Amino acid sequence: MQKLQGIAVSPGVAVGEALVMDNEGFRIPRRFVARDAVEHELERLEAAIRAAGEEIDGNRQAISRELGEQYGAVFSAHLQMLRDPNLRAELESMIRERHYSPEYAVSRALRRYAKVFQAIESSYLAERANDIYDIEKRLLRNLLGRNREELAQLISPVIVLARNLTPSETANLNRKFVRGFATEIGGPGSHTAIVAEGLEIPAVVGVGEFLTDVSGGDVVIIDGDHGLVILQPDEETIAHYRHEAEQNISRAARLETLRELPAETADGVRIELLGNIEFPHEVSHCMARGSDGIGLYRTEFLYLGSACEPDEEVHYSAYARVTEEMAGRPVVIRTCDLGADKDTHDAVTTPNPALGLRSIRLSLKNLPLFRTQLRAVLRASALGDLRLMFPLITTLLELRQAKMVLADVMEDLDDEGVAFNRELSVGMMVEVPAAVLMIDHFVDEVDFVSIGTNDLTQYTLAADRSNKDVAGLYSSVDPAVLRLIQMAIAAADRKSVPVNVCGQMSGNSLYTMLLLGMGLRRFSVTPSVIPEIKKVCRTVKIPHCQQVAQRVMTMENSRDIKSYLREELKKILPELVL
Ligand code: PEP
Ligand code: MG
Repeated sequence: MQKLQGIAVSPGVAVGEALVMDNEGFRIPRRFVARDAVEHELERLEAAIRAAGEEIDGNRQAISRELGEQYGAVFSAHLQMLRDPNLRAELESMIRERHYSPEYAVSRALRRYAKVFQAIESSYLAERANDIYDIEKRLLRNLLGRNREELAQLISPVIVLARNLTPSETANLNRKFVRGFATEIGGPGSHTAIVAEGLEIPAVVGVGEFLTDVSGGDVVIIDGDHGLVILQPDEETIAHYRHEAEQNISRAARLETLRELPAETADGVRIELLGNIEFPHEVSHCMARGSDGIGLYRTEFLYLGSACEPDEEVHYSAYARVTEEMAGRPVVIRTCDLGADKDTHDAVTTPNPALGLRSIRLSLKNLPLFRTQLRAVLRASALGDLRLMFPLITTLLELRQAKMVLADVMEDLDDEGVAFNRELSVGMMVEVPAAVLMIDHFVDEVDFVSIGTNDLTQYTLAADRSNKDVAGLYSSVDPAVLRLIQMAIAAADRKSVPVNVCGQMSGNSLYTMLLLGMGLRRFSVTPSVIPEIKKVCRTVKIPHCQQVAQRVMTMENSRDIKSYLREELKKILPELVL
């Protein structure tokens, strides 16, 4: 049994068979083959080597013709490696004697060679490791002949283990069969993590390299509460986790009984609990949990995973559906927040995408895209209590420019005689430190603000929310981040501008008392955690929360703050502290 520690990003536990995706999205099947299949597997390997050799030779000839013999020579070296008799003998013995599948043998042998090259202190030789990976990929492609598409064609329950999953790949996971997932890279605030929570799939990211230690079909456990991945678990551990899964179900059922009760503190202060969604169908999750509305609709998911750019009708039908299904409750539509880890072509190819042309910056640079979305939002505003929010606002000029485009689109709709809500409430995300520092000006120009603690944390601490290597630094209860949150809440309160927190922090019950004590009365969270947050709200009194917040604001680091808040929560609701 092997226990690996990663970053817990989506709660719950899952026990099941592994589906292993390698770096290139290839599915690595079972490690072993049956004794009587060995000859057939050797033939498959032979055919794959032959086909890969023909491909490489084809490349060599084409490049030599176009650029000259010396460039084609790179491929001659690849051919030599591929056809090396020692390699062939090693692969054959792995298949014949250890009964490894050809795919597993190829990955294992070639990665071992690559590691040897990487360890050599010569940059020239270290770079040759890439040539070896290239040969590995080519052989796997020929052996498997299919790729990641398979994730969409599952027929039995699996636990997906992958190098990485993008937010749109995660969004497209088949909820019926994918019971959990773990990735080698990824950080605590990534959108992959957020989508996993929305889908209610237990997930662990940032585990570090482990895919070579596991093969398809092995039993694995994902512990999304503690960030653990357990390979080859023993019977006792499996039994423990099966019991844990049952307990989670009964705890969720107990909390479900709160559904019809208001989110009101024990001393009678009404709290608004809103849901965060990425897709229209998540409205049903919000309604089932008794949410007071939608506090954040991440509309960029209309673009992610879709082959073509959504037109006005695609936007409109999504917004109309959400607004109508929420039946009069407020729905905050955030304009497109593409870029950074919610990739666009530019973001992937540009260095520092989180500091680049993302979010509102992208919308203001691409006015046809922005106007199309605004037209759809305005049209849907005639159907219910729909509100509009701009993401990643950094300067006042940016906000004014966005509002000017909105006014212009309103004029067009007026001219066309199209109905919309002229009094549409317009707000902004506060998720860049610059916006907090200028918050007293911003609150004069918006109807509401929503604090995006995911980005605010990343930009305040200069720690990429998607990078596991700085996950220890990335904390929304770092004292520096808390000071900014406090400033934003205080400025909004002074001007009686409604303020919400829609970053992941507000869905963590460990932080509910703190946020209430800081003056927050609106939380926008992943729908599945609404009952838990409501439970905390209904248990506490505001003066006690204020004392907790005052104490926290005197503390110097996030580790102490977290352990203090854990103790405080344990005193009132021990069952929520895992
Ligand atoms: C945030 O940054 O806190 C936020 C809610 O937006 P997103 O996670 O979509 O960037
Ligand atoms: Mg954000």
